Amino acid sequence: MGDLCETIYAATAATEAEPASVLLPGHDVPLGRYTTVRRLLPQRPRRMVGAWCFVDQFGPDDVVDRPGMQVPPHPHTGLQTVTWLVAGEVLHRDSLGSLATIRPGEVNLMTAGHGIAHSEESPAAHPPVMHGLQLWIAMPEKARHGAPRFEHHAGLPVLEIDELGVTVVVGALGAARSPAVVHTPLLGAEVVVPAGAAGRLPLSRGFEHAALVLDGAAQVEGTTLTPGSLLYLGIGRQELNVHSGSGARLFLLGGEPFAEPLVMWWNFVARTHEEIVEAREDWAAGRRFGTVTGYAAPPLPAPTMPTTRLKARDRNGQTVG
Ligand code: MN
Repeated sequence: MGDLCETIYAATAATEAEPASVLLPGHDVPLGRYTTVRRLLPQRPRRMVGAWCFVDQFGPDDVVDRPGMQVPPHPHTGLQTVTWLVAGEVLHRDSLGSLATIRPGEVNLMTAGHGIAHSEESPAAHPPVMHGLQLWIAMPEKARHGAPRFEHHAGLPVLEIDELGVTVVVGALGAARSPAVVHTPLLGAEVVVPAGAAGRLPLSRGFEHAALVLDGAAQVEGTTLTPGSLLYLGIGRQELNVHSGSGARLFLLGGEPFAEPLVMWWNFVARTHEEIVEAREDWAAGRRFGTVTGYAAPPLPAPTMPTTRLKARDRNGQTVG
């Protein structure tokens, strides 16, 4: 599989033909006691799309008479978290004192920088269905040691392109730009395709792109895409052809290929094994990440580290150093 994909990418680079698209099925991951999510990134060999380094798709889950999302306080470093909902409500608390309820069509963007802690929960009285995405953006060297911050944007730009309804969550598409602050050239957009509709989305040529479907089924550059898989679209496309017979809700990811190799472990994105060890020790000792108040359960302890050294990997999954 790895060799096949690398052959396709190599051929693309050599001929400058339209890049190949690769369908990457995700896998199910249990998250806490109540939820199973579908992990679409990182995968082998496709670990990133631009600076997007982690994509979990959850639901639609019936949460009537159930707790819904209950993620106790935990730390992050070196990344930004993005929460996007199709249905449901999530209450965010963090160690800066932020308290924000997110609803469909809004975005929560938490920038960890050097360190932050947060919790996420379905409020006690919550809507009957939970459905959405949790994404991480790797922060580049120039920004990752900075101060943490939290943004909630309820008024994202919405535009119509051909017959498609587009909400720009991160970055810019066409004439619309999201107010969310990111640190590398990046795109995140929800695309609603009504039944029987078609359209062409303008893309940045220097970006790599990928698409996923949250609801329904769509034809994306000729490939049928349904929930649970990521369609990697490569680098160098100028536009994306989308249509759907029965209707679909897509999410489009893009960005300039991220050049810095990463060490990802638990909730940390770093560059070396030693940085991960230090972050883990700081969390255990109550340093660096601050305190989340108001969540009804104790913070999550970090898991035990593996006995082997963690290695940095580049965006294609190759170990470095
Ligand atoms: Mn988190």
